[in-house]
Amino acid sequence: MKITSMFSNHTVFSFEIFPPKKTSPIETVYDTLEALQDLKPDFISVTFGAGGSGNGENTLAIARRLKERYGVTPMAHLPCIHYTKDQIDRILEQFRENGIENILALRGDRVEGMQPAEDFIHASELIAYIRDKGGFDIAAACYPECHPEAPNLDTDIRYLKEKVDAGANHLITQLFFDNDTFYDFRYRTARAGINVPIEAGIMPVTNRKQIERMVTMCGASLPRKFTKMVQRFEDSPEALRDAGIAYAIDQIVDLITDGVDGIHLYTMNNPYVARKISEAVSGILKAVPVC
Ligand code: FAD
Repeated sequence: MKITSMFSNHTVFSFEIFPPKKTSPIETVYDTLEALQDLKPDFISVTFGAGGSGNGENTLAIARRLKERYGVTPMAHLPCIHYTKDQIDRILEQFRENGIENILALRGDRVEGMQPAEDFIHASELIAYIRDKGGFDIAAACYPECHPEAPNLDTDIRYLKEKVDAGANHLITQLFFDNDTFYDFRYRTARAGINVPIEAGIMPVTNRKQIERMVTMCGASLPRKFTKMVQRFEDSPEALRDAGIAYAIDQIVDLITDGVDGIHLYTMNNPYVARKISEAVSGILKAVPVC
């Protein structure tokens, strides 16, 4: 099923997972898939390493398993920075042969020690390329707090509009911990003429290491309420996990109340956390009036 069509009659609720590292067998993720599909998300997206680390094959295998074994709609991520046109052609062909029709088209991050392939410089070029091939539903990434390489948010939104004009039918945000950031971003994107559904990316933070990694990687700002919580519970892993789950639920309830198009949960392959959150918000999701 094409994901864009899902937004017409309900608030979309989706998950993101990552494949095991190249050194681990793919079977190590099977229990996670089993547990996550049981929560009946609208779709599950599967990340794809930008550097051709070999886990691209696992992305395809996992997406196929979700579809064939569980009947869950998969979305495969596809970063282009380190891939040539020929390689992208082969990957798209494999997606098509395996019935994977939803793609999150990305530039990807530069991998240290690897030269970019230079066939695709920005995600918008990949999006237009996939659109011209036909048959795929395309999504793109967006950044409520501005992409770290962009000079400012207005410029970043201008390039985001290029991605939508090139064929992105739906957007998924980088994680954020302050909903006001998202509301401001949504206002600014609408003003810039972007009118495709925007899913809010929510990451339940459940341990201190994860927080440090996230902040270094994506520069998300941390509201006082959030840092206070981390400081208070940092020496008690279970309490921090529970507080992190409650924080994510609070964010999601507020977003749904405000009429968000969808919630994309960065599950970090943790079915326990995904279950707690899904159970807490399922009644609210069902109560949202169908437009
Ligand atoms: P782009 O849209 O190309 O933007 C990158 C930068 O270039 C921005 O600063 C933008 O303002 C600028 N820019 C865009 N167009 C132009 C232009 N025409 N001229 C000048 N500047 C321009 N990475 C992975 O490797 N694998 C994954 O599976 C993955 N999944 C992700 C999922 C989500 C929901 C998100 C939000 C990110 C994900 N990423 C993933 C990370 C992503 O690849 C990085 O954030 C990357 O740095 C940017 O990718 P992009 O597609 O947003 O790039």
